Amino acid sequence: MNGALIAGAAVLGACAGSFLNVCVERWPGRASVISPRSRCGSCEAPVRWFRNVPVLSYLMLRGRCAECGVRLSLRYPLVEVGVALIWAGMAAMWGAEAEAVRGGLFLTLLLGIALTDGRSYIIPDQFSVGGVVVGLALAPLDGGPDLADAVLGAGLGLGLLWLIAWLGRLAFGKDAMGGGDIKMMAMVGAFLGPAGVLLTLFAGSLLGSVIFGPVSLRTGALVPFGVFLALGAGIAYGWGDVLVEWYLHTVLGMDGA
Ligand SMILES: [Zn+2]
Repeated sequence: MNGALIAGAAVLGACAGSFLNVCVERWPGRASVISPRSRCGSCEAPVRWFRNVPVLSYLMLRGRCAECGVRLSLRYPLVEVGVALIWAGMAAMWGAEAEAVRGGLFLTLLLGIALTDGRSYIIPDQFSVGGVVVGLALAPLDGGPDLADAVLGAGLGLGLLWLIAWLGRLAFGKDAMGGGDIKMMAMVGAFLGPAGVLLTLFAGSLLGSVIFGPVSLRTGALVPFGVFLALGAGIAYGWGDVLVEWYLHTVLGMDGA
C-alpha cells in the first residue's frame, strides 16, 4: 500500500467534501455554487479563505462562526471527513489506477444524493444527470463496465424505475417515486451496468423497508428512497461481485461457469 498516495487522496477528498457541502446546500434551491462566496448562515459574513480549510478550520474555530460566534453545523466537518475516507479508501483499494478516481467520484455523488434527498427529498439534476454524463465518460477506462454496458445500465435504470413509478401511480393513485429517483438510477446504471442496477434496486428496497418502514408506518413520513438507493448502490459497488456469486451458487445452487 502506498501511504503517500492514500494521504494525498484523503486531502483531495477533504477538499471535494468541502465543495460537496456547498453543492448540497445550494443545488436543491437552484443556487449557484460559485457565487456568492461561502457565508455564515447567521451573520452573512463571508468566510475568509484562510478559515475555509476543510476540517481544520472547524476544529480551530471550535465549531463557531469567527465573526458572530453562532454554532456551525457538525455536518460540514463530517461530510469533509466522510469524503476524505472515501477517496483514501479508493486509493488504498485500487492504488494509482483509473478505477480509484471512478469509484471515488461515484461514491461522492451517492453521498451528495443521500444528503439532499434526506434533507429535502430533492435529488438535484447536477448529481443525477451530471452523474450519467460522468459515468458514461469514464466507462471506457480500465476497471469499470465497458461503454455498451454503461449505456445499457443507464437505460435499464431509467426504464425500470419509470415503470415502477408508473405502476405505483396506477396502484396507489399517487406518486410513490419522484423523477429524481428515476434519473438517479440512470446514473447508477452508467457507473455499474445493468447487473448493478438490479442489485442496487434490490438492496435499496430491502434496506428502505427494514430501516425506514417502521418509522414510516408510525409517523406517516415519506420514505427518502434516494437515501436507500444510494446505500444500495454503495453496497453494489463494493460487494456486487461477491453478492451475485453468493446468490447464484448458494441460493440457486448453480455451479460456476
Ligand atoms: Zn456568523
